[in-house]
Amino acid sequence: MPADRVLIIGAGPVGLCLALALAKRGVGSCIVEQLAAENFLEQVPRAGTNHPATLEMYDEIGLYDRLEPRGIIAPVFHYWDRPHGELIAAFDHVHLRGDTRFPYALQCERIKIVEEALAMAQAEPLCEVRLGTTFTGFTQDADGVLATVEVDGREETVEGRYIVSAEGARSIVRRALGIEFEGFTYPDRTLNIEVAYDFKRHGYADRNYISDPDEWSNLFHWKGPPERWRVHFPTRPEDDEAALTRPEALQAKLQGFLATGRPFEIVGSNLYTVHQRVAAKFRVGRAILAGDSAHVNSPIGAMGLNSGVHDAFNLADKLARILRGEADESALDRYERQRRHIAVQHTQAQTIRNKKLLQEKDPAVRRRNHDELRRTAEDPKLARDYLLRTSLINSVREAARIP
Ligand SMILES: Cc1cc2nc3c(=O)[nH]c(=O)nc-3n(C[C@H](O)[C@H](O)[C@H](O)COP(=O)(O)OP(=O)(O)OC[C@H]3O[C@@H](n4cnc5c(N)ncnc54)[C@H](O)[C@@H]3O)c2cc1C
Repeated sequence: MPADRVLIIGAGPVGLCLALALAKRGVGSCIVEQLAAENFLEQVPRAGTNHPATLEMYDEIGLYDRLEPRGIIAPVFHYWDRPHGELIAAFDHVHLRGDTRFPYALQCERIKIVEEALAMAQAEPLCEVRLGTTFTGFTQDADGVLATVEVDGREETVEGRYIVSAEGARSIVRRALGIEFEGFTYPDRTLNIEVAYDFKRHGYADRNYISDPDEWSNLFHWKGPPERWRVHFPTRPEDDEAALTRPEALQAKLQGFLATGRPFEIVGSNLYTVHQRVAAKFRVGRAILAGDSAHVNSPIGAMGLNSGVHDAFNLADKLARILRGEADESALDRYERQRRHIAVQHTQAQTIRNKKLLQEKDPAVRRRNHDELRRTAEDPKLARDYLLRTSLINSVREAARIP
C-alpha cells in the first residue's frame, strides 16, 4: 500500500467510486466503513436511477458491465396528470444519441451498486477496505491526516494524506470542521412503498413522475427477484408514523392510486425526511466532503446519488494529480468551485422545481406547466435540451468550464 493514500470514510456509492477511480489512476486508498460484511447488504431501499452521465463514469472503472445485468434499461420516462389519468409527456433519451454512449437511465438500486463496487474494491490491490470499522474523529497537519476508528470496541488510528468524507448526510468530518449545512428541511415526510405489481400493463413507463395537487407520486420499476415497483407519496407533517405505515393504510394509499379491487402485494415500506442542503465549504485543508456529506436533496429527479458519484470522479482526478506531483492543492479549491456550484445551481434548483411541479395546486399554473412539458417532449430540439439537463450531462459539461 503506497504511503500516499487517500483515507475515505464510508463505503457508499460515493466512497467506493472514489476508491475505484483513484485506483484506476494508480493511487491507493483506505476505505473505512462502519457496516460489517455480515450486515453490509441490510440497508434500507434508496436511490436507484442512474443517469447517462453517471453510467459513463461507471463504465470508466468497469462497474457498468456489472450493473447492467442487474438493472433495467429505461430509455423513456413519463409525466402523468393523476386527477385526469392522462399521460402528459413521454421523454425519450433517444434524443441524446449524439451526446452519450448511454442514451438511457439504468434502474439499478444503490444496494446493488455498493455490492458490486465493494467486491471490485476488495479485489483491487490499491484499495484497503476496512469493514466493521467506525470512524470517530480525525486530526490533520501539513503532511497528512490521522483518523481514529473503533473496531470491536477497541480504538485504533488510520492514516492517509487526505481524508474524504463520503459518510453520508450525518458527516462527522463536516461537523468537526464546523461547516454549516445550509438550506432547509421539508416539514412533510415522504412515504415509500415497495410493491410487487406490474404497473406497465396500465401504460406506465419504468420511471414516472405523477403530478397531483392533493397527492403527487413517483413510480419506479426495479428488477427482481423480487420484481417490484416503488411508489412515493407525500404525507402531512402532523401524520403519525405508525398510522401511516400500517398494512391497511398502505393498501388504502395504493388502491387510491390505482384501484385494482385486489390487495397489492406489499414488499416493504419506509418513511423518510427530505432535506435540501449544501455544505458552506467542501474542503478545509486536507479534509474534503463529497456526496451526501456535502449536499442532500429530494429524490424527485434522482440527482443525489448521481451528483455524488460525479463529485467522486472530479475529486479522483484532482487528488491523483496532486499525489503524483502534477498539481498543487489549488486543484482542490477548483473541486469546491465546480461541484458546489453544481450542487447549488443545478441539483438544488432542479429538485426544488421538480417537487413544486408535481404538487402545484393552481389549476391555471398546472395547465401551463403541462402544456409546456407536452411541447417540450414533442419537439426534438427542446426535448434534447431538456434531457441534457435531466440526465446531468449539462451539469458535467458546465462544471468542466469552471476554472
Ligand atoms: C428514499 C431515497 C431515495 C433516493 N433515490 C435516489 C435516486 O433515485 N437517485 C439518486 O441519485 N439519489 C437518490 N437518493 C439519494 C441517495 O441515496 C444518496 O444521495 C446516496 O446514497 C449518497 O451516497 P453517499 O455515498 O454520499 O452516502 P451514503 O449512501 O449515505 O453512504 C455513506 C456510507 O458511510 C457509512 N458511514 C456513515 N458514518 C460512518 C462512520 N462514522 N464510520 C464509518 N462509516 C460510516 C455508511 O454506513 C454508508 O455505507 C435517495 C435517497 C433516499 C433516502
